[in-house]
Amino acid sequence: MRKNGLVIAIDGTAGTGKSTVGKAVAQKLGYGFLSTGELYRALAYKVYEQHVAPSDGEAVLALAKRLKFTFVRQADAKLNLHVDGEYLGGKLHLEEVGNVASQVSTHKEARAVLTEQMRQAGKDGGIIMEGRDIGTVVFPDADVKIYMTASAQERAKRRVKQLEEAGEHPDYHKILALIEERDYRDSHRAASPLKPAEGAIIIDTSSLTQDEVIALVLEKISHYVA
Ligand code: C5P
Repeated sequence: MRKNGLVIAIDGTAGTGKSTVGKAVAQKLGYGFLSTGELYRALAYKVYEQHVAPSDGEAVLALAKRLKFTFVRQADAKLNLHVDGEYLGGKLHLEEVGNVASQVSTHKEARAVLTEQMRQAGKDGGIIMEGRDIGTVVFPDADVKIYMTASAQERAKRRVKQLEEAGEHPDYHKILALIEERDYRDSHRAASPLKPAEGAIIIDTSSLTQDEVIALVLEKISHYVA
């Protein structure tokens, strides 16, 4: 085990509840929680802001190298990402930013830059990291690997509910199409495609409540932290 505890990897498609579950479990264990999609989202945000074409691998790489990432741990376990000293917060979670993130994340060299940042953040353990390739690429030696799935329809329903609660009027079919497009791109790209790591514990959350998933993950992890 590392200095501060285990490295726990949670991978899976968008909208399966990885962040909510990961954060809740990290709180129980007194661990930090990092949502690694935020690094790709931050890169996407900067790509957009600086008028770089998401398809231009060299320009995306140059930008990734210039950005300075720091992580600030919050009372609720979350490691907040600061980019060049600025917390980008809610801006990163717009649907469009997620979509550009999945485009910039197809570039192998830019991925390597962000992967190194994630390894630095997790090297001492005591962390739950959530993403697409944590158990396969970032920490292939993670102590526990979890892979969460749910049907695209169920995830679209959840996202619509979330947006409605935030006062928006989302279109279910548009959201479903975006989810399916992102799933396809994430699992078919050449660089670190989304797939369960060998030995990962697979959890289908389609018909489970969030509390049931949290309880299940804690039960699985209890074998390692005993
Ligand atoms: O998880 P989240 O929706 O915030 O991720 C945004 C995008 O970042 C994903 O669709 C994926 O393309 C990319 N990503 C990745 N590898 C990770 C985390 C996120 O490629 N470890």
